[in-house]
Amino acid sequence: MLSHWLTLEPYVHAACKQGQILLYNPLNGQWRIYILSEGTAFHLLGRLLAPENMRVLEITGSEYASPACQRVISELRGSFMGDCIPAAASQGKPVQLPPRPYIDADIRRAPQPLENCRQNLRELVLYLHSGCRLSCSGCQAAYRQFTCCTKLPNSAVLSLDRLGGLLAELSSYPLERLHLLGGNLLEYPEWDKLPKVLANRPWQVIMYFHPEHICLDPAKLASLAGLKPEVRLVVFETDSSERLAAAVMLLKQLHLSWKVQWVVASREQAQIAQQAGARLGFCPQLLPFYDGSNIPFFQECVFLGQEDITGSRPQPKTIYANMLLNQLAFGRLTILPDGQVYSSLHAPSLGRLGVDGLHVFIERELKNGRSWLTTRASVAPCQDCVWAALCPPITEYEHVLGRHNLCRVNHQASVEMAGASV
Ligand code: SF4
Ligand code: SF4
Repeated sequence: MLSHWLTLEPYVHAACKQGQILLYNPLNGQWRIYILSEGTAFHLLGRLLAPENMRVLEITGSEYASPACQRVISELRGSFMGDCIPAAASQGKPVQLPPRPYIDADIRRAPQPLENCRQNLRELVLYLHSGCRLSCSGCQAAYRQFTCCTKLPNSAVLSLDRLGGLLAELSSYPLERLHLLGGNLLEYPEWDKLPKVLANRPWQVIMYFHPEHICLDPAKLASLAGLKPEVRLVVFETDSSERLAAAVMLLKQLHLSWKVQWVVASREQAQIAQQAGARLGFCPQLLPFYDGSNIPFFQECVFLGQEDITGSRPQPKTIYANMLLNQLAFGRLTILPDGQVYSSLHAPSLGRLGVDGLHVFIERELKNGRSWLTTRASVAPCQDCVWAALCPPITEYEHVLGRHNLCRVNHQASVEMAGASV
């Protein structure tokens, strides 16, 4: 019987780990997992994916005739992921060029000009001070899970002088967003001068307030009308509808754009937030909060299932990016009021503002950092999972919960991670 060429389309994402082979077609979202126990089918695809075969495998006439091979061919054709042609139909082995992602200007291989380093900064999260008279229950922990105001143990303040110097330096960076946070931002000692210092900047300014901050100081909020920042209202409690309604009304009167970030630690709190939003005419962004005891809530509402991963239909650009870097973290720095600079609040400081320039922090993160270039393929247990390149990037929650597999796909024992704490 005649031999054939079994081929896999170049756009198909394939992963082979721990006795499983995943094939995923980003064009139509179809996928198939073959497991070691499927014998011939698994080994056939394993040979097809071997680097030396470049996704084109010659199969003998008897292999071609086997039911397992016929099943594979039919599944590849049915999902538009591959084909099988008689060997005689081509002169020699058909050429296939499977794409592989590659960072051309990689600072870890060769020093890069300063300009290349600067290009990477997109987002800055800046804590100006941490004074606040409120006492939200998650204050000390939430800012390590998502962007949120906090009262830090020290009373450091980032002076307006230092802020002015930072903003001047930023003029040579392609920054897109500047997040400003306190404490209570309206109690920043040099608040009166802040709108002027921030005026006429090319980036989007996003400011975070508790509704009560705004209700207590509406005149200070009004001084932002010319600056037109986006306001994020951080809501922790479930009984703050009145203050929230008043804060929303003030923001509407000032014609400021705003969003409500509602921190929820249970399904009940999520329902209360949604009901309050419906009553007040907005759709809150729900931010799951790990309080140290609500793992069941996270398992139910935050952990990913296979259907969530495939349902998001990751495209080749996303898949290749996931193979090289963390898209959530890349290009983002956080600066605390004492001037310490971080790529993640769960990683060591990259240095101190005023001692080194921003490009030095970026260079340190790109060369030795633990955040921007940390992919699922480099952490356990994701490194052994066929979904690693399709799965969303590593989040701060994973550091807080002390495990990377916040999913219902891979339940291997969680891996102890340094600094795991609420
Ligand atoms: S408003 Fe923000 S800074 Fe103030 S207590 Fe609440 S979380 Fe902390
Ligand atoms: S979180 Fe990790 S273990 Fe879970 S599906 Fe994603 S890559 Fe796999």
